[in-house]
Amino acid sequence: MREIEGLLETEIAALKANKTYKYETPLESAQGGEVAVGEHPRVMLAANNYLGLADHPEVKRAAREALDRYGNGMASVRFICGTQPLHLELEKAIAEFVGTEDSILFSSCFAANLAFFQAVTNEPLGYGEWQDVLYSDKLNHASIIDGQRLVRRQSTVKRIYDHCDTAELEEMLSEDAEKPYRVRMIVTDGVFSMEGDQAPLETLVDLARRYDALLFVDDCHGHGVVGAGGRGTAEACGVLGEVDVVTGTLGKALSGSVGGFIAGSRVMVEYLRQKARPYTFSNSLPPAVAAAALASIRLLQRDPAPVERLRENTLYFREQIGELGFTTIPGEHPIVPVMLGEASLAMDMSTRLLEQGVYVKGLWFPVVPPGEARLRAQVSAAHTRDQLDRALTAFERVGRELGAI
Ligand SMILES: *Cc1c(COP(=O)(O)O)cnc(C)c1O
Repeated sequence: MREIEGLLETEIAALKANKTYKYETPLESAQGGEVAVGEHPRVMLAANNYLGLADHPEVKRAAREALDRYGNGMASVRFICGTQPLHLELEKAIAEFVGTEDSILFSSCFAANLAFFQAVTNEPLGYGEWQDVLYSDKLNHASIIDGQRLVRRQSTVKRIYDHCDTAELEEMLSEDAEKPYRVRMIVTDGVFSMEGDQAPLETLVDLARRYDALLFVDDCHGHGVVGAGGRGTAEACGVLGEVDVVTGTLGKALSGSVGGFIAGSRVMVEYLRQKARPYTFSNSLPPAVAAAALASIRLLQRDPAPVERLRENTLYFREQIGELGFTTIPGEHPIVPVMLGEASLAMDMSTRLLEQGVYVKGLWFPVVPPGEARLRAQVSAAHTRDQLDRALTAFERVGRELGAI
């Protein structure tokens, strides 16, 4: 064995020893309210398939038609020969949906976040004469953290404020107010994925205005989920159209497939088409994927009923799980953290629940603070009342058996 492989094996063994090794469970069906694991049906409470569009007839039809008409893929990046009217139409639809002038597609939101910071803060001519500053929420998604790692230290100062701590953020902005920064940027997730809590966008919009900063919001868990029309955290907070840069995914509520975007002003998007490296050096989205996402957005614009159904299901599940005696983090998001404390309890609960027909994942240290191990249940519009009831019955049975309630 090569020396490096010995080291990797040691690392892998360590992951298994601290119970942070990630196991994958093959699903033998489409993603839905219920899935097949080894032929047996399980109620799915772990997917980001908030609206059930991953297996929606209309969305699948759009994908199938695009596949038949435009083929499997473009075999090109966008600017060489990888753009179809479908891509342009989807970019317009996304922009309209999230309340910006334009948008640009990426192969994922991870790629979009990797692209953004380095493109905007490193590139323009003459750095050395100026610096930018980024203010970032401590619990921002890994892709934002990695995206910010790609900026040059000489050109960009990075400051981290405590989770949703707008007082600390304001202190930083005010400390820096007289410094000659070129761009000031506040960077936050719209909805945070561990707890399903929401960034205080009203306050952030206000701070951005007062301190002449740009506001960047990654709303992967917000689009299709929060706000009356499912248009995201900005809509939920009453500031739709007032966020400068919005990133999002096509892999969660908006079709459950793959793909991401950056939405912003016309000039920002035009600039990113020139300078975003994961855009200019990486393949364009397959037509079927673009068509499915477009169909998803059109579907919501025509009738936000799935968003309403998601809200009703979430309310029901939250109420019922609370009545069983479980502690959850209060809120309205379909991410429902069921708090258990010890990692071993979370592990045992998720194993036993799978046996009892419920697919739900546990999170523990270091993903969440020590002593705050939990199951993260995610409700979907695809769930029938019967499926939710079956899940709740299993929670009750397993919870009693393991002494969690
Ligand atoms: C899921 C998620 C991403 C990654 O999206 P992909 O399109 O799957 O790459 C980025 N940011 C946040 C906040 C997310 O929740």
